[in-house]
Amino acid sequence: MRVIVIGGGAVGLCVAEALSARECEVTVLERERCGTGASAGNAGWITPSLSTPVPGPGVIPISLRWLVNPSGPLWIRPTLSPAMLEWIARFMLSCRRPVYARGLIALQHASAQAIGAFDRLAARGVEFEYHDEPLLYPCFEPSELEHVWHVAEELRQAGSPQRIERLAPDELRALEPGVAPDVLGGVIAYGEARVRPERLTAAVHQALSARGVEVLEGARVTRLGRDGAHWLAAGPGRPTTRGDVVVIASGIASANLLAEHGMRLPIAAAKGYSRTFALDPTGPRRPVYLENPKVSISVYDEGVRVSGTLELGATDLSLSARRLEAITTAARRALPGWRMPARPRDWAGMRSLSPDGLPYIGPVPGLENVHLATAHATLGITLAPVTGELLAGCVLDGARGGLLSAFDPARVLRRSRSG
Ligand SMILES: Cc1cc2nc3c(=O)[nH]c(=O)nc-3n(C[C@H](O)[C@H](O)[C@H](O)COP(=O)(O)OP(=O)(O)OC[C@H]3O[C@@H](n4cnc5c(N)ncnc54)[C@H](O)[C@@H]3O)c2cc1C
Repeated sequence: MRVIVIGGGAVGLCVAEALSARECEVTVLERERCGTGASAGNAGWITPSLSTPVPGPGVIPISLRWLVNPSGPLWIRPTLSPAMLEWIARFMLSCRRPVYARGLIALQHASAQAIGAFDRLAARGVEFEYHDEPLLYPCFEPSELEHVWHVAEELRQAGSPQRIERLAPDELRALEPGVAPDVLGGVIAYGEARVRPERLTAAVHQALSARGVEVLEGARVTRLGRDGAHWLAAGPGRPTTRGDVVVIASGIASANLLAEHGMRLPIAAAKGYSRTFALDPTGPRRPVYLENPKVSISVYDEGVRVSGTLELGATDLSLSARRLEAITTAARRALPGWRMPARPRDWAGMRSLSPDGLPYIGPVPGLENVHLATAHATLGITLAPVTGELLAGCVLDGARGGLLSAFDPARVLRRSRSG
């Protein structure tokens, strides 16, 4: 069987890897260079404790409050585009507790498999920077402390086996001495890990090339057509690629190729920022999440990355000095002794977000042998190898049900009126 994977981000590469590990003939078509989209400058956390749907009870009032604060962690770009208005309406419906509770269970089941899926990826010869360390949540406001503990309770109720414990201020500062002395306490989440995401994508790319998998960069797909039983992926300046099965893993651009087949995929861009500093002895020793400003601080072998912000409906990758400063200020407030080295590397990327906050993984109804692997929102690194395994089962064994039911694109895919 010959499979065409469109998109060489973390998700597309892990799908290609899982398929090639099962003896499939795979071609990856990437319009730029692999790993340069959302998968490049993110925090790289494999994080069951943050595996919750973006829409949820309380999100609308909080986002309305942040709407008037341009440095806030969540911002919705005002828009009159019918597609975006429809997306927002669906998002609001997904904030209802029963929808959130169902989504939470599915994401918790998926993320409970994440570390095992990374282990299997490594066992298949993919070598990448990997840190296996609990995540600290220091809190500076009573409401913040209450909220992180409330979420920990929700995770338990959703069936999470993860160990999450409360920490007193001195326990927290013993683990991360740089945390500001006015910390009120926090929690520690065990069973978390992190990768340096750009190293992960480079390693999967390298492993694919070593196995003889065709990975074409600068290969934008502009049209998906049919020739009898085969799919043809065409684009400018190169021969058309022919395959039996297509996997669209094009991140935020995933809706485009479906539109010409009359399919409307609800997906929105959720832009985020990161700032990567050189290592400094005054900096953090371990990963830290700041709940109120929603900022991640990720420590790697060769740097520390501060990331955050969710700008819904963003249209370009321009760097906002104000938002980069906001995430830096949040990190400085939590770790006041950190002498942040000058000239950090700034980055912006677009997460792709479905209105219910769950990814689209599985077959596209009405387009035989076309599958989706996208809309992983804040969890595309956490769930990339799991997605690869799920989709390989779906394509090669016809697997359905379980997580594939929760993530089935058929839950939202519609034929557009013109299609
Ligand atoms: C600030 C920030 C922090 C984050 N932190 C974390 C984290 O700690 N943990 C976590 O799990 N997730 C995190 N995420 C989310 C994660 O980055 C994304 O979910 C993930 O990278 C999505 O991967 P992807 O492969 O779907 O998309 P992308 O990496 O965007 O890949 C899609 C690829 O498709 C290509 N493409 C598009 N159209 C075409 C076409 N027509 N033809 C050919 N190629 C095409 C693009 O060039 C791109 O390379 C974070 C995101 C941000 C922005």
